[in-house]
Amino acid sequence: MIYADNAATSRMDNEAFEAMMPFLLEDFGNAAQSYSFSRAGKKAIKQARLTIAECIGALPEEIYFTSGGTESDNWAVKGSTLLSGELRETITSEIEHHAILNTCQTIERLGFPVIYLPVDRLGVVKPSLLRDKISSKTKLVSIMLANNEIGTVQPIQELCSIAHENGCLFHTDAVQAVGHIEIDVKKLKVDMLSASAHKFNGPKGIGFLYIKKGTNLLPYLDGGAQEFGIRAGTENIAFIVAMAVALRNNVKHINHSFIELKKLENILISELSKAKIDFIRNGSSLGLPGNINLSFRDVEGEMLLHRLDLLGICVSTGSACNSKKTQISHVIKAIGVPADYEKGTLRISLGKDNSEHDVLRIANELTRIIDSFKNTVFVDKINK
Ligand code: PLP
Repeated sequence: MIYADNAATSRMDNEAFEAMMPFLLEDFGNAAQSYSFSRAGKKAIKQARLTIAECIGALPEEIYFTSGGTESDNWAVKGSTLLSGELRETITSEIEHHAILNTCQTIERLGFPVIYLPVDRLGVVKPSLLRDKISSKTKLVSIMLANNEIGTVQPIQELCSIAHENGCLFHTDAVQAVGHIEIDVKKLKVDMLSASAHKFNGPKGIGFLYIKKGTNLLPYLDGGAQEFGIRAGTENIAFIVAMAVALRNNVKHINHSFIELKKLENILISELSKAKIDFIRNGSSLGLPGNINLSFRDVEGEMLLHRLDLLGICVSTGSACNSKKTQISHVIKAIGVPADYEKGTLRISLGKDNSEHDVLRIANELTRIIDSFKNTVFVDKINK
């Protein structure tokens, strides 16, 4: 099998897997208890918080463990907008993940206005647009650091300073970026940042929200005193430990991985071009390493996905078909992919386990499938 859907989830880092095992089988004590049996777990959480903080340039007390990216996004948006009860607005973008978009719909239903900024053809949120829309009514700006479908990296530093000049909080959904590109929250100056372990070779169902010291946020879960009293629930020690090890290992090799993945991207693109396949590359080649979003002319992305699946290749698509019509993803719509290409969108997302052999095979199989499909359509037309 060739797994090329690393933006959906990634294989767990071996060392991270090893590191979490003792906290399931041996040191399984509840970290909230004060007897000595719980000491190992407590110490492990402290160390994990420190490791994660170091990886993103934060302080340990600014890292709050959550159940993943979705929870972190929900917390950042609801926790800041619902805090005072004043009906102030949120500004976000049209290409956010549904963890943000659907959270925004919820706050809209509660009466909090939301502005959705459009993006340009590469998927970039123009800072000038934010400047036009932001006002004294705005409370929060939430713009993702890197897009999950097309890999576009946003000018976060610039967007964040506009928010701050206007007295607003700035949150970034960095779920696709953490562990893949260098992140320093002090340089970015963001107030909140969401991350999810399974996107950087950690376990599923664990993540964190960075909350800058001094930022006032409504507790996400009420209950015990865990996570400095604002996110209750018995800590998932094993997954917290594994998340920290996975992030540390990814960050250690971040530059090497970046170069290798860009090399693989170039091979794939040049093989498809050599084969004279008609496609558009969405997003920018300067985006997330390994994220290759392609729209093929006059073919169905779903068909490509299933044909590749039969060959043991996992990728994802930018559309979903039902019996009546093909639904194009909101991101592909927002960047304005031409009508004869949009249905044929595939996302190939490479990770550290992928090789040159993998991308050559993907390019080769895609070429064969598209050529055979075109020939069938041609023969069908003649027969009619
Ligand atoms: N935000 C982005 C940009 C994502 O890509 C994802 C997952 O695909 C999420 C949020 C949700 O993260 P999780 O799967 O950890 O809930």
